[in-house]
Amino acid sequence: MISASQIPLLLICPGQAVIDSYGDSSDAAIDGTREHEELLGGMLTGDLPDTPRGRALALVAVPEGTKTEVAVAIDLDNFRARVLPSVGHRDYRAAKPRELVGQGDLLAIAASWAGELKTGAVWVDSSRWNAQLWFFGLALMLLNGVRAAVRLNLYQVNARGSLRDDAGYSPSSAQLWQFFDRLARLRETVDEQREQRQAGNRLALVRGPHCRYCRAVMSCPAIDEATGDGNLGARHQKALAELARAQAAVEQTGQLLDADEYDLGDAKLVRRTKWRRHVNPARALEAIPALAPLATTRTTTSLTMGAVDKYAEGLAIGGTKKERREAMTRLLTDKGAIHHSQTESWEVR
Ligand code: SF4
Repeated sequence: MISASQIPLLLICPGQAVIDSYGDSSDAAIDGTREHEELLGGMLTGDLPDTPRGRALALVAVPEGTKTEVAVAIDLDNFRARVLPSVGHRDYRAAKPRELVGQGDLLAIAASWAGELKTGAVWVDSSRWNAQLWFFGLALMLLNGVRAAVRLNLYQVNARGSLRDDAGYSPSSAQLWQFFDRLARLRETVDEQREQRQAGNRLALVRGPHCRYCRAVMSCPAIDEATGDGNLGARHQKALAELARAQAAVEQTGQLLDADEYDLGDAKLVRRTKWRRHVNPARALEAIPALAPLATTRTTTSLTMGAVDKYAEGLAIGGTKKERREAMTRLLTDKGAIHHSQTESWEVR
């Protein structure tokens, strides 16, 4: 079954639709789906998570009547579209075998509006060129008639909260009919690929930079054929090595965030930078009035830890500078004049 999210890649490499692992989902993709669902729900209710992505999406307004994760089917043979009864993510059980299906992230059917939310780091095609969004544009035209002006919007927000709102695009009905023809040709090509496979013939697999987004890459014969001897091609091996490195880095980062220190090996230790000290000037001056000349007074009195350390170092009492600093810190801490806050920095020792 051809689904909207697969159309952009299928238009480049139609043979992938008949590879065994086509449509498999990775753990990372499943995790991404959960976050995606949470963000979509929040865009309607305003209850967005307090994360960079959540804060960025709080600025987006969607049309009235918008629903999230609406499954639709397009029947190319009868020029019809319909909303599928679905429970859960990408539930296309109610679709007929020849229908094309898709789950619209944000769909306001009465307003003929479709929005797509992407949370990946690689920028995807804007709504003017985005085949996945055009699938929903076509569905809206088939549902509401050619006179209803269709509007498409792409929102992409990365992990740092950088939001790209592409301001939308309104394809004409003529453009949507052309897209209809493209989908019909795509479906024919996929049918042909199925026959080729049954006959044991080579598939129309088109390798290129897009392969890095293909879920069938791990069992793609075109990649395996790259060295001509059934071994993995050099680019594939390099990609696997990079994937392993990235997975190790993610695991290391997770362990680091869970603990206060992490052993990097080679006698190197990553540690959470210890606590930052803050001085309460009123309490410090109450405990040691001699600190008063070090407190800057304009509208408020402030006293830095650096100034306190300098004062301690210069005291004409016994011990080393370090001992005098530590004694002063202890004294002020006991008097409630110093408190500590944890930092988010890390250091390698
Ligand atoms: S890995 Fe590339 S060539 Fe192979 S099926 Fe995917 S897109 Fe096509």
